[in-house]
Amino acid sequence: MKEPFLSAVPLIKRLENAGFEAYFVGGSVRDYLLGRPIHDVDIATSATPEEVKQLFQRTVDIGIEHGTVLVLYQQKPYEITTFRAEGEYRDYRRPAEVSFIRKLNDDLERRDFTMNAIAMDRNGMLIDPFNGRQDIENRIIRTVGPAKDRFNEDALRLMRAVRFVSQLSFQIEDQTLKALSSHVFLLQNIAIERKKAEFEKILLGKSRKQAIEMMLDTNLISFLPGLTHQEKAIKQLLSFHCEHLNKNEIWALLIFCLNLSTNQAEAFLREWRLSVKEIKDIQRILFFFRKRLEQVWTVYDLYSAGPEVIQSAETLYLVINGMESTKSVQSWLNVYQELPIKDRTELAVSGSDLLKWFEKPGGPWVKEMLLKIEQAILEGIVVNNQQQIKEWLIACSQN
Ligand code: ATP
Ligand code: MG
Repeated sequence: MKEPFLSAVPLIKRLENAGFEAYFVGGSVRDYLLGRPIHDVDIATSATPEEVKQLFQRTVDIGIEHGTVLVLYQQKPYEITTFRAEGEYRDYRRPAEVSFIRKLNDDLERRDFTMNAIAMDRNGMLIDPFNGRQDIENRIIRTVGPAKDRFNEDALRLMRAVRFVSQLSFQIEDQTLKALSSHVFLLQNIAIERKKAEFEKILLGKSRKQAIEMMLDTNLISFLPGLTHQEKAIKQLLSFHCEHLNKNEIWALLIFCLNLSTNQAEAFLREWRLSVKEIKDIQRILFFFRKRLEQVWTVYDLYSAGPEVIQSAETLYLVINGMESTKSVQSWLNVYQELPIKDRTELAVSGSDLLKWFEKPGGPWVKEMLLKIEQAILEGIVVNNQQQIKEWLIACSQN
């Protein structure tokens, strides 16, 4: 066994020494078998949350109602979840009742796909009742048990299937895909926050093209906010090479393809439950990207945008034009680096200097003059030095 499992073995040993069963489960075991980087190591155990909390010093209740306790062990967080089996699903969303039954197999049985339903003990031995390993070898996504029942229990699984297509480049097994196509409508019952998490992973996955095409073919896309009857826009998105885009850039590109105005973009992103900060950042990228489509960067735009937005807007500009060179991004960043000032606070004069020099009562002219100074400094007309600015202003006023 290797890291990061090795570091977690003492946790499993402690649970076992106290008389419980404990295994590695879920995405980490799948990614380990796939040779992919492993994010978080999750543990399933026969101990109840209370019992887990008694065994470890530093714990956080992050999902007690789902039987999950977060244990901090040697500075690292581990989710330890009591074996569960799910009772009836009432509204296609969450398990109506979670019983803490003490059996590993039942716990694996309630998991979504065979590749995610493999447990591994502390010696690296696999417990794989649904042949997940074989499906991983064949790169197949298959529900544990009848697909339509599993999608009826929790419709987010439809999106999770597509998300794994995008991230892992797997195929969806026939029966699973059939059930997926005929149950897309169930997604109308799913909270947008949950859809968002999967949608972003779909947009960022290596095989996003296949995944998005699948969403079009199955009409799943119509059950996502703002994406009903938008086939043309989605197809346009598919025509671009998005490999190097980050999350905000890809949202901005999607909005560009949807041809949304600033207000419409705001409403769209709000509906998708993006944070205020995310919305602001995406809007800034869009603003400078749209400007960039009309003209080359001016020094004032570079200055107003700042390096991150320059990078994103220029990258989008290249993507839209089918250009791959990162040279132009770097050369604009170099121009930015050469700017005499990077921020308004660096100006060598302030409003009160202007009031003193011109002996006029305050008013909108102060702000206007500061803007004029800022622009002149950026364009190299005057140096950012108090005396020189003063002389330049006086010369200007005499013309
Ligand atoms: P990632 O690597 O992106 O975290 P993951 O498979 O670990 O992928 P998580 O959302 O972290 O996904 O879930 C952990 C595990 O919990 C999954 O591997 C799966 O076994 C189970 N699981 C998660 N969501 C569901 C669901 N909606 N229905 C059934 N089982 C689920
Ligand atoms: Mg995970």
